[in-house]
Amino acid sequence: MSDWRIPLSRLDYGLEEEAAVLRVLRRQWLTMGPEVERFEQAFARLTGTRYAIAVSNATAALHLCLMAAGVGRGDEVVQPALNFVAAANMTRLLGAEPVFADVVGLSEPTISPADVERCLTDRTRAVVVMHYAGYPCRMAEILAICRPRGIDIIEDAAHAPLARYIGPDGQEPHGRLAGDLGEIAAFSFYGNKNLVTGEGGMITTQARELAEAVRRARSHGMTSVTMDRYRGLALSYDVSHVGCNYRPTEIMAALGSVQLAKLAQNNSRRRELTALYRQVLAETAPEILVPFATQRSEPACHILAVVLPVGCDRDAVAAAMRTQGIQISIHYPPIHRMSAYRSYAHCEVPQTEEYCQREITLPLFPGMNSEDVTSVCEALAGALHV
Ligand SMILES: *Cc1c(COP(=O)(O)O)cnc(C)c1O
Repeated sequence: MSDWRIPLSRLDYGLEEEAAVLRVLRRQWLTMGPEVERFEQAFARLTGTRYAIAVSNATAALHLCLMAAGVGRGDEVVQPALNFVAAANMTRLLGAEPVFADVVGLSEPTISPADVERCLTDRTRAVVVMHYAGYPCRMAEILAICRPRGIDIIEDAAHAPLARYIGPDGQEPHGRLAGDLGEIAAFSFYGNKNLVTGEGGMITTQARELAEAVRRARSHGMTSVTMDRYRGLALSYDVSHVGCNYRPTEIMAALGSVQLAKLAQNNSRRRELTALYRQVLAETAPEILVPFATQRSEPACHILAVVLPVGCDRDAVAAAMRTQGIQISIHYPPIHRMSAYRSYAHCEVPQTEEYCQREITLPLFPGMNSEDVTSVCEALAGALHV
C-alpha cells in the first residue's frame, strides 16, 4: 500500500480476517446481528465492563457518551487541548463549550488533575480524559476531584484498548482497564488503531442507565431494533427519544472479533518494541525525550511519541526522515490553534503548546522487528545533526 521503507503503522490482517468477512457475506445479514452481539460480549468481557455497545466510529461513540452524560446547551466539558479534535467537535455540536486543560508535562502528556480542578465551574457537566499514546492518565486524582462533585468522567480511550491503570495502591481505579476507569468510555477501530476494522467504535460502561441511553440513541431512539422486527418479535415501534444512526455493520464486528483475539499479544509486542526504542534512543540520540519513562501502568503503546530538543527544526527532521523512507507523524496540532477554534485560542495550556511544537511520532506496529527500530533511531540521530 505504501512506498515507505518503514511506515508509521501497518495492519495485522490475515486469513482469519478474510474468513470472517466471507462468513458475514454468506450469511447475508449485514447490519447489527449476531456478529455485533458476539463482538460486544467479548469486548465487555475483556475490558471488565458490564456493557459494551458497538457503533460506527469513535466520534459517534463520543457523541453518544456526551449525550448520555446529559451534556447540552450552556454546559462546559473540561477536556485536554492535546487530543484529536473529535471530543471537542462533539461537545460543540451539542451546544456545549469545551474548556481546555493542560497536560501534566512534556514527560507525561496526559491531562493534568490540577488543571482539571482549575477549569471546573458551576457549568461543568463532564470531564473528558484521553489516555494519550495508550498510557492511562492520572485517574485516581481525577476521580477524587470529580466524584465528590458528581461530575461524570468520559474516557476517550481510542489509544488505549486493554491498557491497565496502575495507580496508588488501594485507590480506585487501581488495576482496572481503560474503558472501566470513569463513567463511560469511547474506543476507535479506525485504520491506524491497535484494533482495526476500518471504521468502527465501541462504548463501554458499568451503568445500566447510560448503556440504555446509548443503545437507544445509536438507532434513532427507537424502541425495537431491525433484527427483532426481522425475527417477527416486533412489528411496530415507538421513538421514545431523539437519536442518531450510528449502527455498526456485521462486517465491522466480524473483523473486530478476530482483531480482539489478537489484541493482548499485539499490545505486548508494542510494549517490547517501545522498550527497545527507549533503550536504543538513550544510546543513539540521548537528547530526545521519550515520555512516560517512569509511569507504572501497563500501556497499550498505541504510538511512539517523542519530544525533540529545544530549538530543533522539526520540519527539517521530518524531511530527513522522509529521505530515509521512514514515515513520521505528529500527535497532535493543538485543538485551540485550529481555525474553527479561534475563539478558544486564549486558553492557557503552556505545557501543551510546548509539547505540540516539539513532538514527533515514530513508526510503531506489532510487525516491526528490532532492526527496524534501530534503523529509525539511527535515522533520527542523523536527522538531528544535519
Ligand atoms: C482516532 C481517534 C478518535 C476518532 O476516532 P474515529 O473512530 O476515527 O471517529 C478520537 N479520539 C482519539 C484520541 C483518536 O485517536
